[in-house]
Amino acid sequence: MKYINEFRDGKTARVIAAAIAAETRADRSYHIMEFCGGHTHAISRYGLSDLLPDNIRLIHGPGCPVCVLPIGRIDNAIDLALNRGVILATYGDCLRVPASGGLSLLKAKARGADVRMVYSSADALKLAQDHPEREVVFFAIGFETTTPPTAVAIVQAEKLGLKNFTVFCNHVLTPSAIANILESPEVRLHGTVPLDAFIGPAHVSTVIGSQPYEHFAEEYEKPVVIAGFEPLDVMQAILMLVRQLNEGRAEVENEFSRAVTREGNVKAQNLVAEVFELRKSFEWRGLNEVPYSALRIKAKYAAWDAERRFGIEYKSVADNKACECGAILRGLKRPQDCKLFGTVCTPENPMGSCMVSSEGACAAHYTYGRYKDAVTS
Ligand code: SF4
Repeated sequence: MKYINEFRDGKTARVIAAAIAAETRADRSYHIMEFCGGHTHAISRYGLSDLLPDNIRLIHGPGCPVCVLPIGRIDNAIDLALNRGVILATYGDCLRVPASGGLSLLKAKARGADVRMVYSSADALKLAQDHPEREVVFFAIGFETTTPPTAVAIVQAEKLGLKNFTVFCNHVLTPSAIANILESPEVRLHGTVPLDAFIGPAHVSTVIGSQPYEHFAEEYEKPVVIAGFEPLDVMQAILMLVRQLNEGRAEVENEFSRAVTREGNVKAQNLVAEVFELRKSFEWRGLNEVPYSALRIKAKYAAWDAERRFGIEYKSVADNKACECGAILRGLKRPQDCKLFGTVCTPENPMGSCMVSSEGACAAHYTYGRYKDAVTS
């Protein structure tokens, strides 16, 4: 634990907080979006907002993969499990995401659907090997971090000649989502919270590197600092962003150099390029249709594509009207702005996707921040 503890040291956190306070200008505000759910979790868990001056506002972005999965895609997965006789394998957090008709994958399982929780795409592949008489579908979700293991599973399935294994691919891409937050038609129509800078994702950047953000920083003139998930990483990234903003710079800097390079993991990128191609458009929960923001399986691997094998058709489904997940994922509202927060909607009984995963803004605030609300209100 020594290595981790060094990144959680309270004394050092106070030193960085003092540097941030000293360098923050009183005549301006700083709106900083942390895109990644891992950062949202760290900020809530370690109370980092309390260490910052009032004119620095941290805004939660759409970086939790479970939160951004639209209802229609979960409906598709439920249909496969409930009505098509498949074994549906997926990550644990996907099981409780609310879908249409009061269902979730977990509730579908209670109704007899064969839904299995797996820890990896390799587990899903093993299920298919162990059950040659059954169709096994891996419900694959996530950002660039989880995409390479899915590609590995597909390539492995081909090598093994595994005919009863397919992937329902829902992998999405980070840079397109960040761009969408800044320039989508909704933003032009309704406006959005001002965003001055971004804390760039950690795990995602280990795969794609820091390079893809360079065009972004240049085009939108917003500084980006790639940061690790530990509290001192986040504090240091905020200090670096404050400095960039004060100096009028908009560059990509890398606080997480112990894991992220400019090029990223080229081997993983090549593998992803071998198996996947861009989708023209993909619906994100909270962001609507985002052009070129997701991947689908290439025709070469069509035999392992669940969308083709089962003729899956996507239908968009509106969120529960009372749920503010959409506005929260865009940074327009905070969890405590939702009327259902902490009453009807809790991690045990989530009404919206932001309350499901520990990386979701509502779940993070419910777990670590709601007592502070009670004290300050
Ligand atoms: S509290 Fe629940 S219902 Fe409200 S925005 Fe969060 S997840 Fe959605």
